[in-house]
Amino acid sequence: MTKLLVVVDYQNDFIDGSLGFEEATKIKENILKLLKNHQDDVVFTFDTHDENYLKTQEGKNIPICHCIKDGFGWKMPSEFDIYLKNAKKIFHKNTFGSLEFANFLKENHYNIIEFCGLVSHICVFSNIILALSATPNSKLILHKNATASFSKELEQSAYDILKAYGIELL
Ligand SMILES: [Zn+2]
Repeated sequence: MTKLLVVVDYQNDFIDGSLGFEEATKIKENILKLLKNHQDDVVFTFDTHDENYLKTQEGKNIPICHCIKDGFGWKMPSEFDIYLKNAKKIFHKNTFGSLEFANFLKENHYNIIEFCGLVSHICVFSNIILALSATPNSKLILHKNATASFSKELEQSAYDILKAYGIELL
């Protein structure tokens, strides 16, 4: 039985930086607990933009600079350093979902893929949908106590759709 843990965008800008929100700060210990207890492979995604962000399509929709590569807001809190060092892969992505992550899942089969991180209804949701297509025979799980959103309403909508797609919400 192979198990992959995916930590999506748990970066300073989404926690308490330019796009931060209170709920995001509260899930840190739960993500660290998942990492501590996980024996198999771990991957991370990093939302990654450059100084031209505001001119991009996403920048027109979300006009707040965030996750500028190598800046403080782009980084994860230091408690995660050890896990980043031992990660199977780190995916930098300049939009919500990572096609590189999807390709990785096509090439590396895992029986179970568990998700946590930020933001539940945006990048977590997008990458679960990609995983669903990339690896239809894997069991996909989302840890509700290790993800968060600034909108309870949109988060609930995302949960409802994921449940309808057969994703297990823990
Ligand atoms: Zn972004």
